[in-house]
Amino acid sequence: VSEDPEGQVPGRSEADGRLRPRRMDEMVGQKDVIERLKIAIDAAQSRGEPLGHILFDGPPGLGKTTFATVIPAEMNTSVQMANGAGLRAPKDLLPYLTNVSEGSVLFIDEIHRVPKAVEEYLYTAMEDFRIDVVLGDGVNARTLNLELKPFTLIGATTRAGMLSAPLRDRFQIREHLGWYTPQELAEIVHRNAKKLSIEVDDASASVIADRSRSTPRLANNRLLWVRDYAQSKAGGKVDREITRAALDMIGIDHLGLDKQDRNYLDTLMRVFLGGPAGLDAIAHTMNVSGDTLEDEVEPFLLRSELLVRTRRGRLATPNAYEHMRRPLPAS
Ligand code: ATP
Repeated sequence: VSEDPEGQVPGRSEADGRLRPRRMDEMVGQKDVIERLKIAIDAAQSRGEPLGHILFDGPPGLGKTTFATVIPAEMNTSVQMANGAGLRAPKDLLPYLTNVSEGSVLFIDEIHRVPKAVEEYLYTAMEDFRIDVVLGDGVNARTLNLELKPFTLIGATTRAGMLSAPLRDRFQIREHLGWYTPQELAEIVHRNAKKLSIEVDDASASVIADRSRSTPRLANNRLLWVRDYAQSKAGGKVDREITRAALDMIGIDHLGLDKQDRNYLDTLMRVFLGGPAGLDAIAHTMNVSGDTLEDEVEPFLLRSELLVRTRRGRLATPNAYEHMRRPLPAS
């Protein structure tokens, strides 16, 4: 995937591309990460060397792809974008590696999905900027040694724990992206409302922020829905009541949980009597993939203390019973 004609990188949704900050100074929050990256960029540029490889980890929608696009912009260099799931064999990686220009960035999203055979190519590419390509097979096999231009690999993962140690250790900079505060999300809502030419007051921005599960991508999606709702039902006017009504209508509650989040808690309480229950069993009952639950649903429930992970499985907390208005089971 490369950049589209407007210089925007395609995202999970149209909003991701349109509302994504283009420069680091446009980013909200993640102050410590930004400060460290600026130092690393500055130092690399003054030495005339490529920036060290960077690994970002954290739940979806917190800005990993955004960082992977603003870093090359700060460095005035180009970026190629790949996804770990698409790199099935070494031959899938070769075009990207041979296309890197000096100092440019190769971004691999979901890098934990890169298979072992491809991962091994990354080792020498990252360490020595070279790859050994085996041509032919059997007795005719020959190894071709390809020199690559020095480049920066930026990897992103929702599962840092799934990365092998040799790959993880080849990233000089490792940054964990944490959740955003309601104030930071409200600021993102205000900035993006401006980009979309809609007026959003502080009260409405804070309703959206409070219901966005500490995640900028969700704040953007909620804002776009509130805009549609206001246009169709209130002549374009956005206020606190309209914002609440719009989000209630699509099943986003006051904690920001959506239908799938509540369905998860409901299944755990109703079918598994609150747990402990295994992830696969919950996923089968809900008819969704375990990966989706682990990446997109559980992190916020864990963080909000609605769920705990024990060695024996997932367990609903008393807070979850209160939130779902269910009586605590007698123990
Ligand atoms: P995934 O793991 O699902 O690919 P991600 O962590 O890469 O998610 P992004 O695509 O970078 O998340 O972020 C989603 C959207 O959230 C972006 O398009 C952008 O509009 C917004 N966003 C993310 N981080 C920030 C930030 N720090 N400041 C302002 N907006 C942000």
